[in-house]
Amino acid sequence: MSRRVRVVVVGSSNTDLVVKARAIPLPGETVLGGTFLSAPGGKGANQAVAAARLGADVTFVARIGIDGFGSAAMAGLITEGIHTEFVVRDAEAASGVALITVDERGENAIAVAPGSNGRLSPDDVERARDAIADADVLLLQLETPLETVRHAARLAHAAEVPVVLNPAPAQPLDRQLLGHATVLTPNRGEASLLSGIAVRDGPTAEASAAALLGMGATNVVITLGADGAFWAGPNGAGLVEGISVDAADTTAAGDAFNGALAVALAAGQAIADAVRFATVAGALATTRLGAQPSLPTREALETFQAAHVAIPLERKD
Ligand code: ADP
Repeated sequence: MSRRVRVVVVGSSNTDLVVKARAIPLPGETVLGGTFLSAPGGKGANQAVAAARLGADVTFVARIGIDGFGSAAMAGLITEGIHTEFVVRDAEAASGVALITVDERGENAIAVAPGSNGRLSPDDVERARDAIADADVLLLQLETPLETVRHAARLAHAAEVPVVLNPAPAQPLDRQLLGHATVLTPNRGEASLLSGIAVRDGPTAEASAAALLGMGATNVVITLGADGAFWAGPNGAGLVEGISVDAADTTAAGDAFNGALAVALAAGQAIADAVRFATVAGALATTRLGAQPSLPTREALETFQAAHVAIPLERKD
């Protein structure tokens, strides 16, 4: 008998409203002639979708408004087969929205109104206590209030459920929260901010990871874009090379990476194997446009990986 691994994600849901235009408008300027695209996003929802597409049984804990954007986001989660009983529909706040303009060179400017994400409370997480205790992995980011993230991490820690903490967007974190991170997954910028060591390459990633281990994280995985990821922890340390792909859009590469890492760890994979698996998912996500549309399915990933050692995603009980 085998069962699907269980991942609980506590985090944000946004709607990305994207205008691709000739140029990013300056203050007071109107730029005409762009094209518009709207898509579900938010790091929490993206990582939940990433894990679900890779075969995990995913429960999402979040706050979404009762407006049209929220209803569309909710419908998207349900289509992905994600459990939404701990998604609170909030009548008091608008759903999270990111207003994004992208120019001809791919540069962007983003304004985020977190709305209901900013109201996700420790009590909302408390309602999901049993689901967290039953999970194989809890996956967290920093787009919801820190006290809520802290509460979720505490619950998982008390139930001996591994916590993957993606410290994005970058902000300073206390030792208590870092101490509850079974795996801390910063990108270069986040690792630099948290450790005080500018991460550029393998050696600087190694130094930064050592500092972050010293601050309490059990394992650290620093993602290095096209260069892959560096991991360190009680089982050693190593650089996993990036997979060479034709990158079209790196949006949500980190979310694909974190969702995949959580699924592989939930399946009982060793950290080095889980990082290799996540590196493939991250690379694949860059080959397609958009955030959630680019997140690979298990089939897509296995096809891509066919020449490599397969990493099982189901755990045998
Ligand atoms: P974030 O998107 O959070 O800034 P990174 O840019 O470090 O994070 O990307 C996360 C992971 O996605 C990387 O560790 C790598 O595995 C993969 N990735 C990102 N960009 C590329 C790329 N250009 N080519 C191949 N893999 C990539």
